[in-house]
Amino acid sequence: MNEAFHRIYGARPDGIWAAPGRVNLIGEHTDYNDGFALPIAIPQRTLVAARRRRDGRLRLHSAQAGGPVIDLRPADLVPGVTTTWGAYPAGVLWALREAGHRVGGADLHIDSTVPTGAGLSSSAALECAVAFALADLYGLALDAPALALLAQRAENGFAGVPCGVMDQMASACCTVGAALHLDVRAGVHEQVPFAPEAGGMTLLVVDTRVKHDLGDGAYAALRAGCERAAALLGLAALRDLTPAELPRATRALPARLVPLVQHVVTENARVAEAVAHLRAGDPAALGPILSRGHASLRDDFRISCAESDLVVDTALAHGALGARMTGGGFGGSVIVLAEESATRTLGAAVTAAFGAAGYQAPHLFPVSPSAGARRIA
Ligand code: ADP
Ligand code: MG
Repeated sequence: MNEAFHRIYGARPDGIWAAPGRVNLIGEHTDYNDGFALPIAIPQRTLVAARRRRDGRLRLHSAQAGGPVIDLRPADLVPGVTTTWGAYPAGVLWALREAGHRVGGADLHIDSTVPTGAGLSSSAALECAVAFALADLYGLALDAPALALLAQRAENGFAGVPCGVMDQMASACCTVGAALHLDVRAGVHEQVPFAPEAGGMTLLVVDTRVKHDLGDGAYAALRAGCERAAALLGLAALRDLTPAELPRATRALPARLVPLVQHVVTENARVAEAVAHLRAGDPAALGPILSRGHASLRDDFRISCAESDLVVDTALAHGALGARMTGGGFGGSVIVLAEESATRTLGAAVTAAFGAAGYQAPHLFPVSPSAGARRIA
């Protein structure tokens, strides 16, 4: 990073910061419903080498995006001006200033091992790495959850993506050997020990390498549907509906909103169930919960796709404990929990099934719960 930074900017960086991608074990599309989620950080991460600038300018370079350095003057740091990838880091600086923090400019060089657009949250990794870097460079007393909220604000308000806060909280707050039990309404989180390897298991990520265009507008539409359903029920958010109240609630709603509510309510319950199993030292019991979560996203929320379903079905047919799509949907990645001894044959079966279906080969890699965002040099 130091060499690359020097080549681009002709000086040494003041430091290097890292923030990971994530997979969500369970609790999908619940964050913007004020609910619960259970993500882990993955070893793949985004690095930012950064140097302070006194003149307020923000210069950006990414090894993945390539191209020339993006050079933004203070007047450019308003929503809508930057529409390329630079909107994510620029949005972080904007969000910090909007919140009243005194932050000058910076030169940033970015390099990442998080695949982009694969549902592993490269966007939050980028935002969080930049947020942690700017906070340190300018001596801001902001803790990890506060930086996560600012990173979300950058994505919502500057990059124009109406995401919830789960991705940023995962990237900012996760720890090695634990899943992050997130309660969005309460604004609290706790670390729940999760060490699949210690129990003889593997958590496998299968990046389907497809991204269906449908996903772009669909996220906002689903979110609007959930908010409409809550309003019709007289609730602040779907988080306030319990499984016992579901039958009565569904009778009161238009048919198109019922499956959305069904998913969110049962998904919040699945997070609680998963956390109880982890606390009881039984990570294998997550398996069926993952699979039920997938069925709910496929049949009720309707955001899976043929490729993700094929991974799940093939993995389960070859002995997986459980599997589900993770992330926003319409492609991206699937997670598979399996006995370590079953992982090799199961992975080969998934790859073979993709070949037989005429899909491009998926990327398969094991992950274990990894560190959240921090300064590394
Ligand atoms: P995901 O977060 O699931 O990877 P998103 O569509 O939310 O998918 O975010 C991907 C976008 O984030 C990319 O299109 C790009 O604009 C930006 N991005 C992420 N990582 C990088 C990087 N290393 N360099 C430049 N841009 C990046
Ligand atoms: Mg993202």
